[in-house]
Amino acid sequence: MAVDYRQMWKELDMDLENHDNLCNVLPVAYTDIYLMQKNRPKAMEFWDTVVGAIHGIRPAELIEAQKKGQKVFGTFCVYVPDEIIIALNGIVTGLCGGSQFWVPDGEKVLPKSMCPLVKASVGARLSRTCPFFRIADMYVGETTCDGKKKAYEILGKDVPMYIMDVPQMKRPEDIVKWAKEISLFANKVEEVTGNKLTIEKLNEAIKIVNDKRRAIKRVYEARKNLDVPISGKDALLMMQIAFFDDPIRCAEMCNKLADELEERIKNGVSVFEKGAKRILITGTPMAIPNWKLHHIVESLGAAVVCEEMCTGTRYFENEVKENCASLEEAYLELAKRYMKNNCACFTPNDGRIDDIKRLAREYKADGVIDVNLKFCTIYDTEGYFVEKELKAAGIKCLGIETDYDDGDSEQLKTRIEAFIEML
Ligand code: SF4
Ligand code: SF4
Repeated sequence: MAVDYRQMWKELDMDLENHDNLCNVLPVAYTDIYLMQKNRPKAMEFWDTVVGAIHGIRPAELIEAQKKGQKVFGTFCVYVPDEIIIALNGIVTGLCGGSQFWVPDGEKVLPKSMCPLVKASVGARLSRTCPFFRIADMYVGETTCDGKKKAYEILGKDVPMYIMDVPQMKRPEDIVKWAKEISLFANKVEEVTGNKLTIEKLNEAIKIVNDKRRAIKRVYEARKNLDVPISGKDALLMMQIAFFDDPIRCAEMCNKLADELEERIKNGVSVFEKGAKRILITGTPMAIPNWKLHHIVESLGAAVVCEEMCTGTRYFENEVKENCASLEEAYLELAKRYMKNNCACFTPNDGRIDDIKRLAREYKADGVIDVNLKFCTIYDTEGYFVEKELKAAGIKCLGIETDYDDGDSEQLKTRIEAFIEML
């Protein structure tokens, strides 16, 4: 029997009327984009259920946990170390907004010339239409791009906000600085949760998050096969939900999915036609429910086989050393791992180009699409190097800029179709 979450949303002081408008569009989009796919892995039923009650099931769990004394931390970036929060019995939930629905509310307080991810994230809070943004006891921001930094100042007027100071370079002294920043963050989480961090608890949390990374990696490994056993859309959905879910359950479900994909590979099962062109997508993150580009590419008969982005390989590649002897050692090991993420907010950011070339090889990509969310200056600028270096390496690349609105879908389709034909 379907559970009615309206009372819960009311208690969260949500704008119920406007929330109904949001709830009316998502199921239609999900049916068209996801449920119409053929031959999906059976294990995807779990993700269908999660999306089917995305503002119900997980929010209700978070509220239950809060009643038992746990604190919920909302994060916006893959530099924030989940391990610290989990070790202190806190819960992490991703907060990045991926829907055009929230953009107009963000634009009430932000310049229009800001990326849709920032506008949607602020809009989701201010419009009171997302339970995750209502539930979080504290938001954790970071000094990555300018748009986020300034938006956090606005959010900080409405909700408790803690900002981590991310270095802008990757010299040895920057890694030491990031380790110090992680230790200060641990102090803050101790204060909010009322718990004391121990190396035993932190080692346990490191293992939990590594297990999750290993499980997601298994799903990605399966996508390297010439028979692709899962669509890019389904893999992207699994990634997006990983930001919200309980990390132990997430690992369990991803391992279950990987088991099925490995079985499919043994049996030569592919969800794409033979000879479908293999596409690697790189660039700005795709927060849920941003499925636009994957849907266009796969509707044109090509297969998205990998995402070099924060909702992709950057989330699970590189593990943290386990069984550290002291908190100091663990902070440094966390810093080393997180600083391996190659975001365009760093200068220089050559590691990202190396990653794209390596991943294109590993996933046997026929071509790369470098996607930029409109008004993201750092990724837009870095696109110059991405396209130049890939050309030099003999890898075909198409640079595109888009936002959450469907207005440019036809134009994108034409360009991507021509690109796929050329491969
Ligand atoms: S693109 Fe950069 S700022 Fe955005 S989530 Fe990734 S690391 Fe953080
Ligand atoms: S897409 Fe670019 S501008 Fe937008 S939040 Fe990420 S780094 Fe910042």
